[in-house]
Amino acid sequence: MVIKTFVPDIAYIDPRSLKYDAGKSAKNYLEKLNVPVIESRKVLIEGNTSSENYAKAKKTIYITLNTQKKLRVCKPSADYQFALSSSCPGHCEYCYLQTTQGEKPFMKVFVNIDDILEVIQEHIKMNLPKITTFECGSITDPVALEYLTGNLKKCIDFFGNSNNGRLRVITKFNNIDSLLEANHNKHTKFRFSINAKYVINNFEHNTANYEERIEASKKIAHAGYPIGFIIAPIMIFENWKDEYKDLINKLKSQLKDYNDEITFELIQHRFTATAKELILTRFPNTKLDMNEESRQLKWGPYGKFKYVYPKDKSNEIKDYITDLIKSNFNNAVIEYFT
Ligand code: SF4
Repeated sequence: MVIKTFVPDIAYIDPRSLKYDAGKSAKNYLEKLNVPVIESRKVLIEGNTSSENYAKAKKTIYITLNTQKKLRVCKPSADYQFALSSSCPGHCEYCYLQTTQGEKPFMKVFVNIDDILEVIQEHIKMNLPKITTFECGSITDPVALEYLTGNLKKCIDFFGNSNNGRLRVITKFNNIDSLLEANHNKHTKFRFSINAKYVINNFEHNTANYEERIEASKKIAHAGYPIGFIIAPIMIFENWKDEYKDLINKLKSQLKDYNDEITFELIQHRFTATAKELILTRFPNTKLDMNEESRQLKWGPYGKFKYVYPKDKSNEIKDYITDLIKSNFNNAVIEYFT
């Protein structure tokens, strides 16, 4: 399996980070990779156009601290969300972070893991004796930058020892080898975001490819983690039925020895008017189908209308993929289709 490590063009480091082991080791690591590292409390990105700013930001990282004390609620997927980083090196054309992370979505990597875990522990305590679940992939891909800090592994170990805390990880990357030895105790659920080859190849730039992700999911499954797949965004394109069929067959053949439950979350492609405008600026040659006329409007939870497939098409997608999963896996649970 090829592990692609993302190497930024430039890194900024908040001087406060250097008091932490992960801050010092991230700096050393970046210097060894010949990445220029600038100590500063500010990140400077000066492109001439907004697409240039976007492209530069996606190659810039900022090593800093996470000082958030009160975690945001993350319903329905978990009770709370926390972040080990923000933004990510992927260039997925449809990524919902396009509209939430501004014109310069540079990556932040947080090094003060003990403080982050303390905040998590406080939230677990507040909810006792119930189990509290945490999502760490809401504003980032938590695996993509793991090689710089090792903090995701520390989190997995922490949750492995926690009686009442559970973690949910989601990724499109495959640098998971360091996590195979973690003491997860089945308290971390690992979900891979996966798709038909056509979608990955055309829209999910700078992420692990189809084969690499499936290979990584197999390793994680063999390491005994609870696992799941998010198939998103599901799109209709020429041969979509064959390609999704290939995907489910491939997953089945790779996970035939895994007898625990495998969850599937199914999300059809959607876009908002704001996202469409931004995507067309950042990816002017995009092949994404964003033709409003062939879609139907749906009111979204974030106060915006989004365009989804019309009812007959979305039912067709739902029925087709659900049948594929059910006929191939007797240990599958389809959590939702939306
Ligand atoms: S990998 Fe995830 S977070 Fe990163 S750009 Fe793609 S969809 Fe967005």
